[in-house]
Amino acid sequence: MKKIVILGSTGSIGTQTLDVVRHNKDIEVLGMTGNKNISLLEKQMREFRPKKVAVYDETKAKELKAAVKDLEVEILTGMEGLMEIAVMEEAETVVTAVVGMIGIRPTIGAIKAGKDIALANKETLVTAGHIIMPLAKKHGVQILPVDSEHSAIYQCIHGEKEKEVHKIILTASGGPFRGKKTADLSKVTLEDALKHPNWAMGQKITVDSATLVNKGLEVIEAKWLFHMDLDRIEVVLQPQSIIHSMIECIDGSVIAQLGTPDMRLPIQYALYYPERRFLNGKRLDFKTLKQITFEEPDMETFLGLSYAYQAIESGGSMPTVLNAANEKAVSKFLHKSIDFLDIYKIIEECMSRHSVCEAPTMEQILEIEQETYDYIESRW
Ligand code: NAD
Ligand code: MG
Repeated sequence: MKKIVILGSTGSIGTQTLDVVRHNKDIEVLGMTGNKNISLLEKQMREFRPKKVAVYDETKAKELKAAVKDLEVEILTGMEGLMEIAVMEEAETVVTAVVGMIGIRPTIGAIKAGKDIALANKETLVTAGHIIMPLAKKHGVQILPVDSEHSAIYQCIHGEKEKEVHKIILTASGGPFRGKKTADLSKVTLEDALKHPNWAMGQKITVDSATLVNKGLEVIEAKWLFHMDLDRIEVVLQPQSIIHSMIECIDGSVIAQLGTPDMRLPIQYALYYPERRFLNGKRLDFKTLKQITFEEPDMETFLGLSYAYQAIESGGSMPTVLNAANEKAVSKFLHKSIDFLDIYKIIEECMSRHSVCEAPTMEQILEIEQETYDYIESRW
């Protein structure tokens, strides 16, 4: 039996991870965490019987404790609870499927405890890639990407020598607003932004896909995961989400990974790497597919990608500011207290007033995150 823990088991990635576990029957889930949705967490506990469960929200943790009195399980809470699950002794792999910067500290804890990381939480590498990657190397742990684009590249690179990979080509669907211009974006609603054309995901990443901030975060993530400079990472729109990403080798050969849009594939690939397992679900049918098209991203309208390039060029703590400003702005947009285009305004303003700190420590990253949140609260 392979033993894992899942941070964020109640989310989109978390529930799909449990679906992979359910179908394979040779993975034991030792620990899981949730935030507010304890009725789902209780259901998951009754099916998968973890030894420890953490609920970030303290009141909800108490409610859950009362509801599962009949189960033999330890209920933990807060950041300490999350940290305790991340380092559970028998666990081999930690699936980091929480959303946001909350994922950084448990990921670092898990690496230090020698766990392999099945990494969905992209905010971790975006803000702390310079800490995470050397730390993983030091502790001999694998960072196995769950994000579909990075999993695709991981699958393409498999068997290739690093020096023979010339560049990586990240694909993007373009989101629900592809083809629109700034004037059109001033009128879009939250409901419009949450209608992703191809993927069903958590709300935050769905909005990030609409702004193209998601693709920007993925460029930063790719830079760290694959040790690539910015000029060797290209983004192309592939609106049908069939090609999940590609690599171009030094001889000009392009290798792509294709499949139907189903996150269970990258999740399962990360859990069993380098083995492949059968996966039920729809397969690509090239006879009915007919066409796969490409477009250049419109970086003047969808500023998310431009901000990410700027953040990489400034380096140091700037990606943390981009990420924190985006997190706060998206949360406000989800609460309908700002408009779609305000997300860009907030990111732009936060980035332009920030003076970069080179190679920030974990403490500095968390401080800069808080400062960014406080500034936004005082302004919007
Ligand atoms: P989601 O919103 O569906 O789920 C988030 C999970 O995090 C839930 O289990 C929730 O309980 C937990 N959580 C939220 N706030 C928390 C807090 N304050 N403390 C502790 N736990 C908290 O999100 P998702 O779509 O599953 O995405 C998770 C991560 O994976 C994100 O970083 C996202 O960018 C990344 N990702 C998601 C997808 C996808 O298809 N959904 C694809 C690629 C990458
Ligand atoms: Mg992705």
